[in-house]
Amino acid sequence: MPNIFLQECDGCGMQFELEYLKNGSYNYVNSSVDCGCESSFSPIEGAPSISEWLVKNGEETINTMPDKDPDYNIPYIHLNTSTKEYAELKKYFIEGMNLVVAHRPLGSYSFAPIPYSENLGNGCYYAVGPIAKYGEDWLKLKAQIIKPITNEEIILVLKEKLKTDGIEWEYALKEVEGDIEQIAEAYKAPYV
Ligand SMILES: [Zn+2]
Repeated sequence: MPNIFLQECDGCGMQFELEYLKNGSYNYVNSSVDCGCESSFSPIEGAPSISEWLVKNGEETINTMPDKDPDYNIPYIHLNTSTKEYAELKKYFIEGMNLVVAHRPLGSYSFAPIPYSENLGNGCYYAVGPIAKYGEDWLKLKAQIIKPITNEEIILVLKEKLKTDGIEWEYALKEVEGDIEQIAEAYKAPYV
């Protein structure tokens, strides 16, 4: 199964390659690629999203929405890309950097603090920096890494979780009269 797929910038349409990793993260194949849009991107038509790819590759449910960083054990906060919080923060999702949030200022424990005061559930102090440099401090300071997730990805995760619990997606959908949010709530997924 190939794990490199062409992506398209939602802003300018520029295409670039991403390598999907089995822990749910990805690498840029050509690290110099940057169109400067700070926009989101999507797989080109016909290519799987990373969630779809993980599901097709038979990975465990946990890998479709991992709850922490596999190397540094720092918990994730999954932030739905349809929220106004994501709209505010998306410019800080910078290649090679992680966006984190904590209950205390992270100034000296980050590349740069971020001026944003919304509390996503783990304080209002945001910072960005490379995990390789600040990961250990972030763990001690109980920071959490913010991971964007789309509704489409959440649905794939939910289907996979239901399957693990022996429940058909169609059956579950009928039970909640089509209200996906109820299913998402049961699995603590931030569907909006
Ligand atoms: Zn672009």
